[in-house]
Amino acid sequence: MPLDNLPSPRLEERLRRELRGEVKFDAFTRGRYSTDASVYQIEPLGVAVPKDKEDIAAALTIAREEGVTVLPRGGGTSQCGQTIGRSLVLDCSKYMQGVVSFDADARRVTVQPGVVMERLNARLKQHKLWFPVDVSTGDRATIGGMTANNSCGARSIRYGNMVHNVRAIDAILADGTSAHFGEVAGNFGEEVQPERYREIVRDMRALHRREADEIEARFPKLLRRVGGYNIDMISDAGSNMANLLVGSEGTLAFFTEIELDLHPIPPHRVLGICHFPTFYQAMDATQHIVKLDPAAVELVDRTMIDLARDIPIFRATVDRFVRGEPQAILLTEFAGPDADDNLRRLKQLVELMGDLGYGDSVPNAGVIQAVDPGFQSAVWNVRKEGLNIMMSMKGDGKPISFIEDCAVRLEDLAEYTDRLTQVFHKHGTEGTWYAHASVGTLHVRPVINLKQEMGAKQMRAIAEEAFAMVREYKGSHSGEHGDGLVRSEHHEVMFGSRIVRAFEEVKDTFDPAGLFNPGKIVRPSKMDDRSLFRFKPGYTQIPVDTVLDWSDWGNLASAAEMCNNNGACRKSDPGVMCPSYRATGDEQHLTRGRANTLRLALSGQLGPDALTSDAMRDTMELCVSCKGCKRECPTGVDMAKMKLEFLHAYKTRHGLSLRDKVIAYLPRYAPYAARFAGLLNLRNRVAALAALGERWLGFSARRQLPTWSSAPYRGAGYPLPSPPPQAGEGSDTALFRSAGQTVETTQPSSPHLLAGEGQGGGKPALGSRDVLLLVDTFNRYFEPENARAAERVLTRAGYRVVTPEPGCGRPLCCGRTFLAAGRIDEAKKEARRMLDALAPAIRAGTPIVGLEPSCLLTLRDEFPSILPGAETAALAKQAQLFEEFVAAERSAGRFELPLAGMEGQTALLHGHCHQKAFGTATAAVKALEMIPGLKVETFDSTCCGMAGSFGMEAEHYDVSMTIGELGVLPKMRAAAPETMLAACGTSCRHQIAEGAGRQARHIVRILDEASSRR
Ligand SMILES: Cc1cc2nc3c(=O)[nH]c(=O)nc-3n(C[C@H](O)[C@H](O)[C@H](O)COP(=O)(O)OP(=O)(O)OC[C@H]3O[C@@H](n4cnc5c(N)ncnc54)[C@H](O)[C@@H]3O)c2cc1C
Ligand code: SF4
Ligand code: SF4
Repeated sequence: MPLDNLPSPRLEERLRRELRGEVKFDAFTRGRYSTDASVYQIEPLGVAVPKDKEDIAAALTIAREEGVTVLPRGGGTSQCGQTIGRSLVLDCSKYMQGVVSFDADARRVTVQPGVVMERLNARLKQHKLWFPVDVSTGDRATIGGMTANNSCGARSIRYGNMVHNVRAIDAILADGTSAHFGEVAGNFGEEVQPERYREIVRDMRALHRREADEIEARFPKLLRRVGGYNIDMISDAGSNMANLLVGSEGTLAFFTEIELDLHPIPPHRVLGICHFPTFYQAMDATQHIVKLDPAAVELVDRTMIDLARDIPIFRATVDRFVRGEPQAILLTEFAGPDADDNLRRLKQLVELMGDLGYGDSVPNAGVIQAVDPGFQSAVWNVRKEGLNIMMSMKGDGKPISFIEDCAVRLEDLAEYTDRLTQVFHKHGTEGTWYAHASVGTLHVRPVINLKQEMGAKQMRAIAEEAFAMVREYKGSHSGEHGDGLVRSEHHEVMFGSRIVRAFEEVKDTFDPAGLFNPGKIVRPSKMDDRSLFRFKPGYTQIPVDTVLDWSDWGNLASAAEMCNNNGACRKSDPGVMCPSYRATGDEQHLTRGRANTLRLALSGQLGPDALTSDAMRDTMELCVSCKGCKRECPTGVDMAKMKLEFLHAYKTRHGLSLRDKVIAYLPRYAPYAARFAGLLNLRNRVAALAALGERWLGFSARRQLPTWSSAPYRGAGYPLPSPPPQAGEGSDTALFRSAGQTVETTQPSSPHLLAGEGQGGGKPALGSRDVLLLVDTFNRYFEPENARAAERVLTRAGYRVVTPEPGCGRPLCCGRTFLAAGRIDEAKKEARRMLDALAPAIRAGTPIVGLEPSCLLTLRDEFPSILPGAETAALAKQAQLFEEFVAAERSAGRFELPLAGMEGQTALLHGHCHQKAFGTATAAVKALEMIPGLKVETFDSTCCGMAGSFGMEAEHYDVSMTIGELGVLPKMRAAAPETMLAACGTSCRHQIAEGAGRQARHIVRILDEASSRR
C-alpha cells in the first residue's frame, strides 16, 4: 500500500520520544536540508539525526507506521538531486562515524555509513593501507553516500568504482528486516537468512535470468556505468548481493554498516604533466597514454587553468606546472611499489609524447615531470578542486551539472567532445572540460541561467542531444554522479523500456510500499520540472537595506546564492573552514547551512522578517567570523561579511544588550577605564565579581577577562588622551609624532583627499624610512609591551616610528568591536576618522603597520566595504601587519636588524585565522626565521576558539573550548617546555594561556628579545 506521505503531528512527537538522536522539524532546518549539490530544492518533512542503527530502525518503523517516506543522507554532496525529497531525512553524518571492525591482514574494514572517506584513510595510514575510491569530495563524502551513489575516484582505472570495493552491506529493509548483503553462493539454501533476504536473492536471480539477453544488449560495456540498478552483476553461479545495493541511491534499503576492501598505499608515485596545443589532441592522445598502465589520467583544460590562476591559493602552483599556453593538460600518474619502475614509465611517457608529435620542443606541448611528492599533491589539489574552481564564476549564469559525467570509449573521446562542444555552441553556450580522461568520463558543465525558463529549455535540449550522442557511441549517460532527479527519466532512452521495467521490479521487490527515497532511479519526475528547481518560477530576491558594499556579487542575496552546496566547508583538514561545524557536526553551524538559510530568507521562503528572526540569530550564533570560508570556500562565500550584515539588521531591530555595549564601546571608554586598571582587574581575582559579571553581563566566570595595564602604550611620549568629543568626531586635527618630535602639523578635517590635492595644510614630512605604527586597543591597553617591542625593533632596524595622534585625543581604532556588535554605523565613523587622520601618511605612501591581525586586516577587508572609494583602497594597500612589513622589507634588502642567535631553540607559531585568510602567516614565519639558529614550526589548524569576545561569552564557553581542542590547544600543550610559543592574535594568546596553560607571545616580542641581546 503506497504511503500518503503527509506529515502527521504524531510523526515528530514519536520521533522525539523514541529516538536518542536529534529531531528537527522547524522551517529553518527543513530549508537547510532541502538542497544538495544539484540544481534542485525540495523541502523535507523533517529531519532526524540518528545516534546508531537502533535509532535508524526505530525511525523507519515510525515512518512506516505514520505513512511517510524516508531519505537517507550523508554529506549531501550529490549533484543529481538524489539526496533531497519530500521525505523524512535521516542524516547519518553526525553520529554514525564509527569503525566497527578492522582486519589489517585481511585488508578489510567495516564502518558505519557516516564515516568520511579521507578521515577513514587518515586512520588507515599507519597500517600503510587505504580505501582507494578517491572521489574529489573525499574530505566530506561519507562511505554511505559513496556506496549508494556507486562513486568513482580519479584512480578508478586502477581500482574501479565503489561497486568493485564494497564487500558487504548490513541494511535495514523497508519492512524492518535487517540483512547482511554479501556473497551468496550459486547453490544456496537455509544458510542465507533471514527468509525475506533469501526471497530477494531468489527473485533477483530470476529477474537476471529472464533479462540476461536484454542486459547484454543494453548495458554499456564501460567501467563508468553507474545509472540504474546493477542487475548485470547478479549471477546464478553466485554473486555478491551487496552489488545491487551499491548505486541504489537510498531507494532500496538503509545501510547501517559497510564492509570495504582495502589496498596497500603505493609507496611511490610520479606525475607526468602532459601539455597539448589543442584540446582535441589531448583527447585523442588519451587512448595511447593509458597503454602505459597509469594509475590516473586526468584532464585540466584551458578555462580551468585560467580560472585557477585567478585564485590566490592556486596561482603559484599553476605557474609551476603549466608551461606556455596549452589548451589542455593531462595529469598522468604512475604509482607502485617500485620507484624505478615509475620513473621508467615516466620516461616512456615522455617518449610517447614525442612520438605523438608533442615533444618538449613543440610550442605549448611537452611533459613536465613531477617527482617531488609535495609538488604532486599541490597539482592534484588544483585538479581536485576543478569543479569548485569552475563554480567560482559569478552572476546568474552558472555551469550546470546534468550531462556532467557521460562516459564513452577512449577511441571515441576526441570526436565525442568535439561534437558536444558544437552542441553547446548551437545552444549559445560554452562548457569547461576536466576530470577522468583515463576512463572516458569527462566532466563538462554548460553555462546556463536556470532562473529563466529559457535556461530549463536549454538544459533539456542539450541533454537530449548529448544523451543521443552517448547512445550512438554505446556510452553511459551516468558515469559517476548517479541518477537522482536529473538522469532517471533518461533511462528509458539509454537502457530501453524492458530494462526500465526490470528496474521497477527491483524497486518493488525490495520496497513494495515505496518507503525509500521515491522518484529516484525509477518513476522519476522530469529533469526540467521547474517547480523542483532551487530557483523556481517566481523566485525573487526581497529588497533589503544593506550597509556593506556587495557590488562584486550584485547584492547580498546573490552573494548567498553563490553557495552551490558542494560541501567543502564540511572538511576537517586542512585549513580553517569551518570551526563551528567541526565542533558541532551540525548543518546549522556550517558555512553551507548559513548561506542556504540566508538565501531562503532573502528570497522570502522563510516568511516575513526571517532575516532578523531569532531562528536566524541561532543560525549565525556560532559563526566565529574567522574568515576561513572567505579564503577556502571555492565559490568565495564570505560568511564573516554576511554575518556583519545580519548583525546590523538584527541589532537594529532588537537593540544592543549591555554586554554588546561593553564590547562595542571598549575603544571609546578604554582611555578612562585604564586609569582604574587595578580596580577593574579585581574581577579576575575575586570569584564573586566574576560570578556577578556572568549574571549581569554574560561574560563567563570560567574565563579571565583581558588584564588592564597600568601603563598603557602612549606612543612616542604622547600623554594619556583627554576626553573625546561625543559628536562630529571626524573633525580632528591630525598630528604625527615620532620619538618626541612633531613631523606633521594641522590637517583639515574630513578632507577625503588623495595625494597631491590642495588642502592648505602642510605637506607631510614623512620620509622613506618612516613607518606609521598603528597600535590597536588591545595591544595599547592590555598588552602594551608588544607595542613597545615593535617600536624598539623598528627603531633598531633603522626606521623612524611615527605614531598617529588624532586631535580629538582618543587613539585611532579600526572599529572591529563595533563590527562585532553589529554597529556598522559606529564602525563607519571610526573608519572615517582613521582615513582622515591617516590621509598624510596615505598620500606619502608611508607603510601603515599594525600588530593585531583582526584589527589591522579590518583596514584591508571591512573598510573597503564600509566606505568604498579610492582613499580606502589606498589605505588598504598601505596597511600591513608587522610581519608582512618585515618580510617585504627584508626581501627588498632594506631590513637590517642585528639579531642574537637562538641556536637549538624552537618557536611554535599558531597563525591567527585572519592571517591565514589573508595569507600573511608565512610572513610571520619568515620574520621569525631571521633569527639565526631558530627553528620555526607551524601547524595546520582551525580557529583557536576564542575569536575576539566569542569565547568569553558565557553561552559560548563550551563550544569555544571544543574548537580550541580541535587543534591549537593540544598542539600547544604538547610543545616541549623550552619551546617558544608564538601567536600574533591577542585572543589566541588568551585562549592558549587558559586552555593550554602556556604563554604564547607575539612574534614582535621574540624579535625584540633577539635584537636586544646584540
Ligand atoms: C565538487 C564535487 C565533486 C565531486 N566529485 C566526485 C567524484 O570525484 N566522484 C564521484 O563519484 N562523485 C563526486 N561527486 C558527487 C558526490 O560527492 C559523491 O557521490 C559522494 O560520494 C556523495 O557522498 P555524500 O556523503 O555527500 O552522499 P549524499 O549526497 O548525502 O547521499 C548520496 C546518496 O546516498 C544515499 N545514502 C546516504 N547514506 C545512505 C545510507 N546510510 N543508506 C542508504 N543510502 C544512503 C542518499 O539517499 C543519496 O541518494 C562530487 C560532488 C561535488 C559537489
Ligand atoms: S559555503 Fe562554500 S564551501 Fe560550503 S557548500 Fe557552499 S559553496 Fe561549498
Ligand atoms: S567565518 Fe569561519 S565560522 Fe563563520 S562560516 Fe566562515 S568558516 Fe565558519
